[in-house]
Amino acid sequence: NFRLAPHVEAQASAALLRPNPKLEHALSNSKSNGLPPISVLPMSGQYLSILTQLIGAKSVLEIGTLGGYSTICFAEAGAKVTSIEIDPKHRDTALQNVQGLDVEVILGAALDVLPKLVEEGRQFDMVFIDADFDDQWEQFDWAVQLTRPNGCVFLDDVVASMFKDGHVEDESSDSILAKIGRDERIQATLMPTVACHPMLPTPVFNGFILAIVKGV
Ligand code: SAM
Repeated sequence: NFRLAPHVEAQASAALLRPNPKLEHALSNSKSNGLPPISVLPMSGQYLSILTQLIGAKSVLEIGTLGGYSTICFAEAGAKVTSIEIDPKHRDTALQNVQGLDVEVILGAALDVLPKLVEEGRQFDMVFIDADFDDQWEQFDWAVQLTRPNGCVFLDDVVASMFKDGHVEDESSDSILAKIGRDERIQATLMPTVACHPMLPTPVFNGFILAIVKGV
C-alpha cells in the first residue's frame, strides 16, 4: 500500500492543516527568490510545531534555515529560534520571511558555528538538524552538547542519508546509527516516514532520529 501514501498525505493535509499566511508567504517568496523547494512538508512542519509545544520549548537551535519554513513553525509555536545557514541568499530570504518573529539567523557552516555556540555556553530546549548529509554525526554530537538536560535533538533525513545506489551504505559499527546507539548521553529512536514530496516522482522511504538528552 506504499503507492497509496500520496493520497493519504493529501487527504490528511486537507483535513488537518489550517491556512497560515506566514508559511504560505514563505513558500511563495522562497520560490520567487529561486530557492529549491526542499523545506519540510506542511504536515512535518505541523509535527515540529506540536513537538515544540509538547516540550514547552522556549529556545530552538536549527541547522539549515533555507527560506525559514521550519523556522516559522518553531517560532509560531512559542520558541525563540537561532538558525544556522551557510548560503547568504537563503539567509536573506529567510530574514524576509520571518519578519516579526523572534528569530536570529547565523550565516556560516554548521561545523564552524556550533563550537562557537558551545564556547559561549549557549543551551537550547531543542535542536533541529536539517542541513547537509555529510556531517550529520558531527552536527548531532555538537547538538547534544548544546541541548539542556531533558531537551531533545531531532535529526531529519537520517534514513535518506543512509542509502546509496539502493543499498544501505554503512552497516558497520562506525555507522551513524551505531554511533548514536552507543551514545550514553541520550536515549534515541528512529521514526520511519514515507515522504510524498512534490519534487519526487514516487513516495520515498525516509525517517528521522528523535533523541532525549538524559537529565543530570
Ligand atoms: N529546515 C528548512 C525548512 O524546512 O524550511 C530546510 C533546510 S534545507 C533541507 C537545507 C539547508 O541547509 C539549505 O538551505 C542549505 O543551504 C543549508 N546547509 C547545507 N549545508 C550546511 C552547513 N554545513 N551549514 C549550514 N547550513 C547548511
